[in-house]
Amino acid sequence: MKHYVINGGGMVGASAALALATHGERVTLIDAQPEAQTSDEWDLRISSVNDNHWQWLLSLGIGDDLNHKQLPYQRLSVTTIAGTQLSFTAADAGAEQLGVMVENNNLQAALWKCCQRHAAIEFKAPAQVTDFDLPNQRLTLDDGEQLNYDVLIGADGANSAVARAAAIGYRGWDYGQRCLLANVTLEQPFEAETWEVFRPKGPYALLPLTSNTACLIDYRSAAEINSISSDADTLISELTKTFGDTIGDFQLQRYASFPLQRKHALEYHKGHSLILMGDAAHTIHPLAGQGVNLGFADVRSWLDCGQDVKRYQQQRQQQNARMMRAMDLVNVSFRSSSKPINWLLRGGFSIIERTALKSLLLGSAMQR
Ligand SMILES: Cc1cc2nc3c(=O)[nH]c(=O)nc-3n(C[C@H](O)[C@H](O)[C@H](O)COP(=O)(O)OP(=O)(O)OC[C@H]3O[C@@H](n4cnc5c(N)ncnc54)[C@H](O)[C@@H]3O)c2cc1C
Repeated sequence: MKHYVINGGGMVGASAALALATHGERVTLIDAQPEAQTSDEWDLRISSVNDNHWQWLLSLGIGDDLNHKQLPYQRLSVTTIAGTQLSFTAADAGAEQLGVMVENNNLQAALWKCCQRHAAIEFKAPAQVTDFDLPNQRLTLDDGEQLNYDVLIGADGANSAVARAAAIGYRGWDYGQRCLLANVTLEQPFEAETWEVFRPKGPYALLPLTSNTACLIDYRSAAEINSISSDADTLISELTKTFGDTIGDFQLQRYASFPLQRKHALEYHKGHSLILMGDAAHTIHPLAGQGVNLGFADVRSWLDCGQDVKRYQQQRQQQNARMMRAMDLVNVSFRSSSKPINWLLRGGFSIIERTALKSLLLGSAMQR
């Protein structure tokens, strides 16, 4: 039995702790923050988790600890600014659902409860590592406690302290865009379907939450998002311009915006006793909701690779790079107002609609 220390108990770190403990390893899970708080209302941070990973998470035993803020979805549609539409349904994929929209806090809190109950997991939160003695595989926590480990996992997000301690560099850039999220109460019934429209300045999308609430998502340049969200009245007026024709009148509940960056670790491991997972290894444009799905795939791959650092890096670095390039291509080409690109996209969309390519695309999006 190995002793794993996982720095970072986000959705990826906490699922890694549970998966490793279920696999027979001993785990210490450290997070700088106290337990995630959930309330009756939906938080702004929501993730679409594909059905393959959702079933894996349920197999780890989290089902009874989830609250109501999780919604299975059966259909997704994407529309270009030229009006060409592509829809994906669970039936196309031969599945009952494409995946689940889940509140990040809800999923993290359920994972933490399962970790806290597991005899093989020791939980330390809020706590921080003050010294990484990597050659001796030893950490010191802020209360002075020292921990020896066989493997240290950095699952501590995009600003990973573990990657910094191991001097692991990144390749990437700031997209210069922000993603604005606004939860709203709608005043008239609306179709409970997730959709996304691509336009030159960036996509906008709607995520239904309940029968009368939805999350409105708007991607634009950082300067424009800062300007339209400078106060609630300006924001309501801008959201009405973008979404009003489709959803009618609404009341704004809460909103926030997030910067978008692309970062990919140059190495996923240091020696045989340190690896990175989740956003600590890769952050990706969220327009297709792939970020945490890639993190879950990291965890599962680590176990499938027999906990072999080289095989893990080879497998995950390639697959994550492929997904990052695909997201960049979508981000650039679907935003384009160039006529030839739009013509190609329109042709591409109708070919996809008519052929088996659609089930192929769906299959790969729903895989690990
Ligand atoms: C606007 C937006 C929408 C998104 N939508 C989707 C989506 O629909 N689907 C999807 O798959 N992905 C989505 N993502 C991406 C997804 O949110 C991330 O990929 C995911 O949160 C990464 O999880 P993680 O556990 O790796 O890292 P994080 O969520 O960043 O968690 C890191 C954890 O480490 C802890 N920590 C940090 N530093 C330290 C430290 N020094 N010591 C101890 N603990 C530390 C933090 O407290 C936290 O608990 C979206 C991202 C954005 C910005």
